[in-house]
Amino acid sequence: MTASHSSSDTDYACNPKVTPLPDCSHHSMPDSDVSVKDNRDSNVQALSCHSQVDSTVLEQRIAIAKQTCQSQGIRFTPLREQVYRLILQAPTPIGAYDLLAQLQKLSDKTVAPPTVYRSLDFLLEYGFIHQLSSSKVFFPCCQPDDKHVAAFLICQQCGDVQEFSHSPLDSVIQQVASQSQFDIQSSVIELLGYCQQCKEKSATKRSIG
Ligand SMILES: [Zn+2]
Ligand SMILES: [Zn+2]
Repeated sequence: MTASHSSSDTDYACNPKVTPLPDCSHHSMPDSDVSVKDNRDSNVQALSCHSQVDSTVLEQRIAIAKQTCQSQGIRFTPLREQVYRLILQAPTPIGAYDLLAQLQKLSDKTVAPPTVYRSLDFLLEYGFIHQLSSSKVFFPCCQPDDKHVAAFLICQQCGDVQEFSHSPLDSVIQQVASQSQFDIQSSVIELLGYCQQCKEKSATKRSIG
């Protein structure tokens, strides 16, 4: 979690206030599943934004990251950008070893793991990406310019991760923390189960078999 996001939440694809681009999900959801209402508290929308970000969304995210860094006087180094791009482009959440291997393929020089880990720490700290505590994989945040408690629905069958934010959970957690005078440094809420597509597939298999 980071306390450093700006509150601007206007113009990128995955904000729950606007209809997400179809590319925000690698599943083709029925229309009713992507309808989004204005009231964040009463209508929480889970988004599969970690996967198949199209080139427009990708460049928007990079621009947001650059802007955030610039406004805070932080360097968005080429390595940080490269790591972020790879995570944005990955079709599924990606682990550190796979990232290292991909970076190595892109570079003539030996890629030093500590520098990559530092880039990952940076991206996590500024809320551009999230990491699951259960499987340690990384994926892009759906709302990198808006501070939120990160909560995830994780499919145990296909590995799909959907992020939902700005749920009533945010206010409950803030309330509990403030009552205990506790400063939250990070929070990851992970709900394990089976996604709609996997449930449908297994139902079809049962009905055929
Ligand atoms: Zn997020
Ligand atoms: Zn699934």
